[in-house]
Amino acid sequence: MIRLCRYRRVPRQNRSASRKGVLLRDGNTCQYCRRKLAAQELTLDHVVPRSRSGSATWENLVACCLACNNRKGNRTPQEAGMVLMKTPRPFSIHAKLAGGADEQAWEKYLFC
Ligand SMILES: [Zn+2]
Repeated sequence: MIRLCRYRRVPRQNRSASRKGVLLRDGNTCQYCRRKLAAQELTLDHVVPRSRSGSATWENLVACCLACNNRKGNRTPQEAGMVLMKTPRPFSIHAKLAGGADEQAWEKYLFC
């Protein structure tokens, strides 16, 4: 029998994350080394790797430079000893309404 581990409400607005949108939200700044770079020098990092069921949602995508992406590889930030500049959130005019609730929603990706 399969049981869900700590199921929480699905965060609102977790759809349609785009490269452009993520870079805009993160201010073209690598979320690991905090360097501000040109868009073409940045990639999108799946915080929880795709191979670990990480999805392409706002909460799981951050701007990341090539060096950090290589360093992180197929690991979570904790495993790689890397710290995100800020918790990734949906980017919209409504995002600020979510407040602290997203922090908890985010936990399941890291600790579940
Ligand atoms: Zn970086």
